[in-house]
Amino acid sequence: MGSESRPDGSDLRARAAEVLARISAAARRAGRDPSEVKLVAVSKTHAAALVRAAAEAAGLRDFGENRVQEAEGKIEELKAVPVQGLRWHLIGHLQPNKARKAVRLFDLIHTLDTAALVERLERICVEEGRGRLEVLVQVDLAGEAAKSGATESELPSLFEVFERCARVRCRGLMILPPYFEDVEKVRPFFRRLRGLREEWGARGAFGDAPGELSMGMSHDYEAAIEEGATLVRVGTALFGERA
Ligand SMILES: *Cc1c(COP(=O)(O)O)cnc(C)c1O
Repeated sequence: MGSESRPDGSDLRARAAEVLARISAAARRAGRDPSEVKLVAVSKTHAAALVRAAAEAAGLRDFGENRVQEAEGKIEELKAVPVQGLRWHLIGHLQPNKARKAVRLFDLIHTLDTAALVERLERICVEEGRGRLEVLVQVDLAGEAAKSGATESELPSLFEVFERCARVRCRGLMILPPYFEDVEKVRPFFRRLRGLREEWGARGAFGDAPGELSMGMSHDYEAAIEEGATLVRVGTALFGERA
């Protein structure tokens, strides 16, 4: 299939089967149970019809979007003939002025990175009558000024804010590491994020759970799983190149 043509149901079924097989193999290599790893299909830039095909033909249910506005359009469109059990993940930076919409639309927000945003979401949950909102803290381990994410030194004050929130619940950590062609160069970032998850999990930052690790994309999700990922965010390997 060329990158220009949109994959159809049988392409999606085959690609999803391949990605899921690789997920299972990577988990087993690391002595993990494959059911610990959830595939989030990154549908950004793709039409609602493709999400529907991925859900109906390939059985996918978790979809990742990086822009609130774009997700809103797709979610609305899919409501016409609803697909049961869809879960929407916000994987892009959340602008404060989009927070209310995000609370209405998403099941899991992967990109919390400031105390002010946590407080804002908590307030909005009260106003919107949303009893619980699960989020992950995005960590910036590379000190990339242009990227979002909390630095390690900002984590203590961030987790302190969560302790005061009844509705916004931190479930784990997320990373979007710098891009390296060579996956072995990304691996240390995955390992460090896992270390932080262990450290903060032991302090109860994720409730009773050990904490999720959202890490790994099309080119490095197998290494991420070997290093402990519980959520992998895969777009290109499922849907082809984005325009
Ligand atoms: C686009 C995106 C992905 C998916 O990337 P692929 O290389 O297409 O798998 C994963 N995570 C984030 C945060 C993204 O923005």
